[in-house]
Amino acid sequence: MRDAVGTALGISTGSGASSFTGTIDSNTIGVAGVTNSGSSQGSDIGFITDGGANSSVTITNNHLYQYNNDGIQVQTGDAVDGGNARLTAIVMGNTVSNPGTFGNHGFELNAGTVTGDAQSVSLTMGGTGAQENQFLGSGANGGTDIRLRDRFDTTVGLHAGDGTSYSGGSTDTAAISAYVLAHNTVTTAPTFSVTAGSVNGFGASPMLAADGGVQAAVATPGETHLTQSELNSVVSAAIAQWVKAGVDSDQLAALHAVTFSVADLAGQIVGLESAGHITIDADAAGHGWFVDPTPSNNFEFTHALNASGSSLQTDPSTAAAGHLDLLTAVVHELGHVLGLPDLTSASDANDLMYIDLADGERRLPTATDVAQAAVGSVKAMPTQSDASSGQQATNSGGFDFSSFTQTSSQTNTSHADLAANNQTLSDLFSGHSNVAAPWWLGHETTFIAMGGTPTDNHLQAHHDLVV
Ligand SMILES: [Zn+2]
Repeated sequence: MRDAVGTALGISTGSGASSFTGTIDSNTIGVAGVTNSGSSQGSDIGFITDGGANSSVTITNNHLYQYNNDGIQVQTGDAVDGGNARLTAIVMGNTVSNPGTFGNHGFELNAGTVTGDAQSVSLTMGGTGAQENQFLGSGANGGTDIRLRDRFDTTVGLHAGDGTSYSGGSTDTAAISAYVLAHNTVTTAPTFSVTAGSVNGFGASPMLAADGGVQAAVATPGETHLTQSELNSVVSAAIAQWVKAGVDSDQLAALHAVTFSVADLAGQIVGLESAGHITIDADAAGHGWFVDPTPSNNFEFTHALNASGSSLQTDPSTAAAGHLDLLTAVVHELGHVLGLPDLTSASDANDLMYIDLADGERRLPTATDVAQAAVGSVKAMPTQSDASSGQQATNSGGFDFSSFTQTSSQTNTSHADLAANNQTLSDLFSGHSNVAAPWWLGHETTFIAMGGTPTDNHLQAHHDLVV
């Protein structure tokens, strides 16, 4: 793929509550020695969501050259049009070098674009060995190899493919930089810049309230003004759950050292862990908390959702129905203190470390969680089969661009190739809700827009796909 004018491989979800799940793998964009041959005016890979619904993009093993903005740009924002939801981005194994005349950054995350943005980003950036991204002099014109921007009320959970999560202070830019640089290869200075302007900042990914779950037959208020003493009342029960699961004395000491507070967290965020401190949202993102008066037993949650009984559900007759379980949120955030990362695949929905929490749901730790915490590695580099399993679970169409990689000499024959691939791509996209058909205008091609009419001009920009 080469010689684009706008973003060479651009994906935008458009405005509204549209989502994207997919993989961009093993493409080569641009030619290292040919000036501006990736894109003469845009990034080589650009992924933009307005944040209105959860999206997931995996960008792996691409070779990116001669771009005129960023090698890889990932952006969420524009809550005024879309709302606030989560973006899961996995960026591993890419090689980015040889920026074009107006190249800027090798990789840029732009979390938040306008006031009111409170999206949550889970960014897995590099890892060990082949998981590391290679930034080989990828910044230009004052731009750095890697730029991470956490703006407005957005939150960025920072992870690496080796199963670790960033655990330093949420606005400690030096520590954030050190974590990212330890999991990626960069060869020249300046290498890194970070904006950590919000109260939420960088850390483990926050737990989010999810739709669904069990609603009450007769509505109960739930706790929408959580107090410190109410929070404290479930902490010892939460720690006891980890003891039951088998934590050792060092782990137990770490759990006892955690401090807690209540705050009005933005958007759908209900729990947040950073550097040994756990913050819990006051009203459970509007759902109201179920503050279990007897948190050491589970008799409100009589329905087991898995064989081990670690994932439970209430029924519509109890006070837990229609609300989020405070005990689960605290136990989950304590899992981050033990080094466990969030799980984001829908197939992990019954696991304590799954990132979402729905009404009437209780999830508890198991010996497996403790074992994973002990080795400090629960997350291998995602493969296409991982993406596929998510695809099946969500029916939202993960796919792999690698089969569309073309040789570097296709610039004048690409239109024929587009015609050949048109139907296949359309079929692939047809699983997305509210998707606009991809349209092909020859060499300069707007690639895809989701959310019906792509009227959101400040997101649509100009995308090229030359395959
Ligand atoms: Zn979490």
